[in-house]
Amino acid sequence: MKKLLLFMISALVMVSCCDKTDKTTTIEKKPQIKNVIYMIGDGMGLNQIYAAMTANGGSLYIEKCSTTGLVKTYSASDYITDSAAGGTALATGSKTKNGMIGMNPDSANVYSVLNSFQEAGLPVGLVVTSPITHATPASFYAHQISRNLYENIAVDLYNSGIDFFCGGGRNHFENRQDSLNYTDSLIKKGYNIVYNIDSIEAPQLLPFGVLAADIDLPRAEERGDYLPKAVDLAIKSLNAKGEGFFLMVEGSQIDYRGHGNDSVGVIAETLDFDRAVKVALDFAEKDGETLVVITADHETGGLSILNGNPSGSTVSVTFNTTGHTGTMVPIYAYGPGADIFTGIMENIDIPKIIKAIVQGW
Ligand code: MG
Ligand code: ZN
Repeated sequence: MKKLLLFMISALVMVSCCDKTDKTTTIEKKPQIKNVIYMIGDGMGLNQIYAAMTANGGSLYIEKCSTTGLVKTYSASDYITDSAAGGTALATGSKTKNGMIGMNPDSANVYSVLNSFQEAGLPVGLVVTSPITHATPASFYAHQISRNLYENIAVDLYNSGIDFFCGGGRNHFENRQDSLNYTDSLIKKGYNIVYNIDSIEAPQLLPFGVLAADIDLPRAEERGDYLPKAVDLAIKSLNAKGEGFFLMVEGSQIDYRGHGNDSVGVIAETLDFDRAVKVALDFAEKDGETLVVITADHETGGLSILNGNPSGSTVSVTFNTTGHTGTMVPIYAYGPGADIFTGIMENIDIPKIIKAIVQGW
């Protein structure tokens, strides 16, 4: 299995070497990277970011990133991707059909950047505001024909060996059709499982899991510091040995509020995600060997900005759809290797680049 995965990664890199437009060809000198923090704002297009920036008095923490680029988001089946195909592309480097998790369009399993870190013997983590079994995080560890198979995805998480996870979805582990209790199973496997992180400050021994809600976490306005705090706890826990780690962080509910055409909610969720970005960038600045990559799986709502005040706090927006759109989404990067993530790229280029870096160790 290990050999096969490494072979698959080499094959990907070799194939991409012949394609002059592939971003992996630009990695000539391997950057000195120990940790990767991959942050995904679900449904976070450029206008979500600029609306939040305007509402915030004209600036966001994300502006500390040194590199920006643009990402094409279409899936193997649809010009407009869903979060399953979008997540699978960002996680594994394979475009797939809408609805599918961790599989290519022929239903063969494909493996994620998180798996590449596991192959290198390094701890890996996921922090989200959705169920931990939801499409975006699931794309990093699960292999299912449909994103809706939440209870199967929970079993995939049980089998994944993920060292740190924090999100909702407790029902998918404890209130199941098959009456099995996968929280008990995780504890038997050695996990410390808790139901909130309010009183936790110190780094946690791994493996550690947080099931902080039956399904979704509350919305940003009622969630307090959950996301930035969870990111801080994940970084401290995964970095305890200081040998390197992979962490994926999702601002899951930017998308939900976009589907609801809720402009106040989109801005609140984007600002909450930006506070989590600050935690990651502050760590990366101090650490010096951490690459932070921030992007979106797609845009949600067709958000347009109609008016605003660049240094005030007012912004006027409108939506064009209650669904996703096909617009390119921005990518931001910070730290060693950040300069690779520039120009216009495919969503699948991002994990290919990260895998190529891990393979170069
Ligand atoms: Mg998502
Ligand atoms: Zn959506």
